[in-house]
Amino acid sequence: MDMVGISLREALKGGGCPICRLVEKFEDEEIETILYEHPNDPEVRKKFREGLGLCPHHAWKILHKALSNPLLGPLGVAVIYEDVLRHYLENPEESRPGECFLCRLVEGKERATVEAFAERLEDLLDEYQRSPSVLCRRHYQMLLRAVEREKPELAARLREIQREKLRKLDELMRAFIDSFDYRAERPATKEERESLRVGLEALVGRPFGRSESEGERKRKWGRWRLR
Ligand SMILES: [Zn+2]
Ligand SMILES: [Zn+2]
Repeated sequence: MDMVGISLREALKGGGCPICRLVEKFEDEEIETILYEHPNDPEVRKKFREGLGLCPHHAWKILHKALSNPLLGPLGVAVIYEDVLRHYLENPEESRPGECFLCRLVEGKERATVEAFAERLEDLLDEYQRSPSVLCRRHYQMLLRAVEREKPELAARLREIQREKLRKLDELMRAFIDSFDYRAERPATKEERESLRVGLEALVGRPFGRSESEGERKRKWGRWRLR
């Protein structure tokens, strides 16, 4: 299997949604690169200015990452955001949030990861079945759409496997809840304790940022503000 296939295979070992995990890792690495290498890079500053400091998800994630890493600290983020603030002060009228470039990057990575998974699904499906991974609802549907038309049998198998995984997950969550009963005969197992996180991830995915779709933007900002 090629390098992309190998990284997908690796992601299946970690539990949770393998696509979310890969996209989230990409997002983390992009943010680290900005913080380590580019606080003074004019191109990067321009992107921050255009997005008026980026979307809330990415702005706070950048700050959090910088503050939780002793090798980084607040200086780089302060340099970037002082520049955005000054730009906003100097142009209060024309300033309105443009697109967040990190959202755009992450969205591209998400699409590419789903496509890569879909192209290799025949080779990966057995492994997915055996693995502790559970695709989140969003990525399961994206994957299904990608293979449904040309490989209906493969899609049917994926559906079946996903359903079985969710059923098992539900069982584990119920056992976890039961373990709080004072009549419970045993404490919850590790798998049962982890089922809450895995269940949440299966429903809503990991919290990485991505661009809003056209429909989402319209609902939020109204048509007149679209660019
Ligand atoms: Zn996912
Ligand atoms: Zn963003």
